[in-house]
Amino acid sequence: MPVAEPAAHLLDKPALWIGPEALTETSGGRIAHVYAATGRPTGEVVLAGPAEIDAAVSLARAAWPQWRDATADARRDTLLRLADLIVAQAAELSQLQSLEIGLPVQLARQMPALAADQLRYYAGWCDKVGGDVVPTWPIRGLDYTLDEPYGVVGGIIPWNGTLMAMAQLLGPALAAGNAVVVKPSELAPFVAPRIARLAVQAGVPEGVVVVVPGGAEAGRALVAHPEVDKVHFTGSTATGRAVLAAAAPTLTPVALELGGKSAHLVFGDADVRFAARIAMSGAVALAGQGCANGTRLLVHESVREQIVETVLARLRRVPFGDPANERTVLGPVVSEASCRRILGVLARARAEGVTLLTGGDRAGGDLADGFFVEPTVVADVAPDSELVQEEIFGPVLTVQTFGSEEEAIALANGTRYGLGAYLHTNDLRRTHRVARALASGSVWVNGAPGLLPSAPFGGVKQSGFGRIGGVAGLREFLRPKNVWIPA
Ligand code: NAD
Repeated sequence: MPVAEPAAHLLDKPALWIGPEALTETSGGRIAHVYAATGRPTGEVVLAGPAEIDAAVSLARAAWPQWRDATADARRDTLLRLADLIVAQAAELSQLQSLEIGLPVQLARQMPALAADQLRYYAGWCDKVGGDVVPTWPIRGLDYTLDEPYGVVGGIIPWNGTLMAMAQLLGPALAAGNAVVVKPSELAPFVAPRIARLAVQAGVPEGVVVVVPGGAEAGRALVAHPEVDKVHFTGSTATGRAVLAAAAPTLTPVALELGGKSAHLVFGDADVRFAARIAMSGAVALAGQGCANGTRLLVHESVREQIVETVLARLRRVPFGDPANERTVLGPVVSEASCRRILGVLARARAEGVTLLTGGDRAGGDLADGFFVEPTVVADVAPDSELVQEEIFGPVLTVQTFGSEEEAIALANGTRYGLGAYLHTNDLRRTHRVARALASGSVWVNGAPGLLPSAPFGGVKQSGFGRIGGVAGLREFLRPKNVWIPA
């Protein structure tokens, strides 16, 4: 069956909104957005360049005091209203989210509720932000801290899930009392401006959330802007490095939520069928384009055959194709460039003699015009190979075998990344030992709950620093001021 056209009627006329002002001519120019499932354009996008970034930051700077000085309960209620509005508009937002990156509707439909959960969680923090009384003995006096917002936060987000990325940024940043200028990727320019409009509808003062889709130049301008007080970057490790360098001249503090190469460690005592199902999602969830996807399967030699067979059998049955089809679980990757890059990595790996257990090609037939890469499993990969060391960001799972716990840990820790790790074992002592030994921001044992709003999530090593989620995520957007009064 041919792939259905996306819901392009939902798109607004191309414009870049800076507060109430709609710009159609900008220093960032225009690009065509292309629907990943058909390879055909959906419409034009007006992009921010340095001039519009400057205007956005000025607007946010001017608007910020209104939000900073709003009462805690007003902020809380506003965030709760924003969550309600997202849920009320779930149908349209999820269609847009699907159109933006070719996300299967089945998955896109879950996003509004998950985004609302993030906002509700942080709404609950608004009236709990305060400070501490500091012991001063033996000096007599009163010393206390005030937890203050930074001011204007520059948020840069990737394309791979705008609804969640917006909620994960706006929830804690707004709860803490900041204004936010968000720069979404030019590949995913539709959902984020809607959220900014809903924020105004919910009662966030105009200008406190400004969304300016743009490319790398806009991102650089936002990071380097002297009126940005904190940068919160989510994206690849390579860009994170550039962001850190660009923030150096102004010494702007930066949080970096970067790439990952998470491992699934399956020990011989694990529930093998369950582990295989979870491991398979490393290649399937978001077409392998999730930062925390477990894309490296590390299996104990005693269960290797069973795990691999089960993964392959399940992958053969995965509904793959048209994102608009209700059954589809695995859709396209985001762009032609991404598709070619993934196939290039696979071609190099084949030349090195890896064993391709399934997939490895671009899908043909009705899917030939879109950016569809077959679900792929590769075995006999060298620990230092590109496939194992680099983030592929496509539906590709590698398989490696280990004989001992030490070897499993060494393989799991053997990349420059450290975002997440999935551990499958029913041995309690081993669980604790291995969880401690893994160089990873998160360890999920025998399954993962998705991104809990209350749990800190972030990387170690070159997966970055800074956390989203929980109180640690809130702290990213607050800084303590110390006040001393002598007795
Ligand atoms: P990317 O690094 O190419 O781009 C991320 C954002 O940075 C985009 O908005 C882009 O326009 C902007 N940008 C590009 N060059 C810039 C520059 N020089 N200065 C400032 N901004 C610049 O990443 P992507 O392809 O959009 O997203 C995929 C990556 O994001 C993957 O590596 C993935 O693992 C990572 N990611 C991490 C998390 C996390 O929480 N750790 C979450 C989602 C995605």
